[in-house]
Amino acid sequence: MNIILLGPPGAGKGTQAQRLVERHGMRQLSTGDMLRAAVKAGTPVGLQAKAVMERGELVSDAIVSALIGEELDSMGPDAGAIFDGYPRTEAQAASLDDILAQRGRKLDHVIELAVDEDALVERITGRYTCAQCGKGYHDTFEQPKQLGVCDKCGSTEFKRRPDDNEETVRTRMAEYRAKTAPILPVYEARGIVARVNGMAEMDHVTAAIEKIIAG
Ligand code: ADP
Ligand code: ADP
Ligand code: ZN
Repeated sequence: MNIILLGPPGAGKGTQAQRLVERHGMRQLSTGDMLRAAVKAGTPVGLQAKAVMERGELVSDAIVSALIGEELDSMGPDAGAIFDGYPRTEAQAASLDDILAQRGRKLDHVIELAVDEDALVERITGRYTCAQCGKGYHDTFEQPKQLGVCDKCGSTEFKRRPDDNEETVRTRMAEYRAKTAPILPVYEARGIVARVNGMAEMDHVTAAIEKIIAG
């Protein structure tokens, strides 16, 4: 199974991908996570991407498509893939077709998380993650059961992304509208797009996605 989670920043792609990983043992392929790891490690890719990400603009298609190819090659041929935050441009969508075909994979579903833009700034500015295991949280919408202690791993260290501020979010939303939304019609023409109400409660969103992948 190969699926794309598509939606603007804060739509819930990472949240839902983490749940699919836990329930189905699929792999989450998040170019955002890969790029942040590269920035942290100070690799050549990281050095190139850092300032672009801080501005909320898009990193080059060649860089992210190379990262996706490498990640797929590190997986078993039968492991399911959830693409989270990739593809983000028409060029990336075309690259993904090649990358999958070269590995004997095919795209099963493109799941669009539809959300009101007004809600996204609040989602993004309240977002934080466990510094140890990466589990996602939110100041208002998803606190750990015991405040300050990660539900999943017990860590008491959390972090926030430098680009999760209101100004950058506006740029990221504009990038989504201009460059990412236009890839939807391409997939719609293939009849593989399913739309989910991303404004619903997290559990309801998960249930809707489960229904789609169950066929
Ligand atoms: P979000 O899910 O909040 O939109 P991501 O973690 O997916 O954020 O991405 C963070 C930043 O990393 C983006 O603003 C962009 O600069 C860069 N990035 C991530 N994925 C891609 C991609 N597929 N193409 C280009 N840039 C990307
Ligand atoms: P994306 O990966 O699409 O950028 P995230 O999954 O990181 O988005 O979600 C952004 C923030 O909103 C997180 O803090 C998350 O806990 C919260 N969130 C995700 N889905 C929902 C939802 N359905 N309702 C309320 N808050 C949500
Ligand atoms: Zn944790």
